[in-house]
Amino acid sequence: MIGDVMLRTQRLTRKFSGFVAVNEVDFEVRRGELRAIIGPNGAGKTTFFRLLSADLPVTSGRIWFEGREVTGAPAHHLARLGVGRSYQITNAFPNLTIFENVRIASQPPSLDFKFWATYRQPSELTDKTNRILDIVHLSGKRALLASELSYGELRRLELGMALGTDPRLLLLDEPTAGMSPTETQTTIELIQRIAKDRTIILVEHKMNVVMTVCDRISTFHQGKILAEGTPEEIRANRDVQAVYFGSR
Ligand code: ADP
Ligand code: MG
Repeated sequence: MIGDVMLRTQRLTRKFSGFVAVNEVDFEVRRGELRAIIGPNGAGKTTFFRLLSADLPVTSGRIWFEGREVTGAPAHHLARLGVGRSYQITNAFPNLTIFENVRIASQPPSLDFKFWATYRQPSELTDKTNRILDIVHLSGKRALLASELSYGELRRLELGMALGTDPRLLLLDEPTAGMSPTETQTTIELIQRIAKDRTIILVEHKMNVVMTVCDRISTFHQGKILAEGTPEEIRANRDVQAVYFGSR
């Protein structure tokens, strides 16, 4: 069910020593949406995500999450509000097990007194970790070290780690990059399952994936949104055809 506006940006801009990577982007995502962001390499997609998760400060413009302005708020504050993100580059600890990686990611910051209120029993954290391992199909590999996983499994572990923070909005940057067709299919089914009770923004290059799973697509080009619409609308859009499909 698509609901109220969950995330909104107004003229969001990021410059790198004069180069405008994200250029006055007005963007809105509604609760329950599975939104894709597509666009050629260098279009500003990852930079846009980094701004949304406060991984990178904005140069100008504003961001609201669930009606509250969060421009300039630190990343841990956004995480606590419910914005989660999995990275394009792996984030797991290679010498810890799969179970330990997900458990650590699921643990609120220890200085937060609410930790004790949330998890009165250590077993609650264990239960949550087990649930997540189940969702990302890694229960059977729980005792392996992250360094022992295949590439596709490692990407699923990262998804599990992102889920550990209970995000209501999840930002996924190319979750199927480098995966085989089989791994891609597994990951897509996983994302669709996660999307049932969550809002997701997905940067994705594989057009078959984008066209089949997403509610709406935003096309980035040179730091701006070139077009936005349903998969059918984007497929039929001449600007998108010229700039995106034509460039590949
Ligand atoms: P995409 O994810 O769409 O491929 P990016 O957001 O990674 O694009 O990059 C957009 C542009 O911004 C690129 O030209 C890239 O070189 C530049 N850029 C990204 N991050 C930095 C940075 N930290 N410093 C300087 N330039 C950057
Ligand atoms: Mg990128």
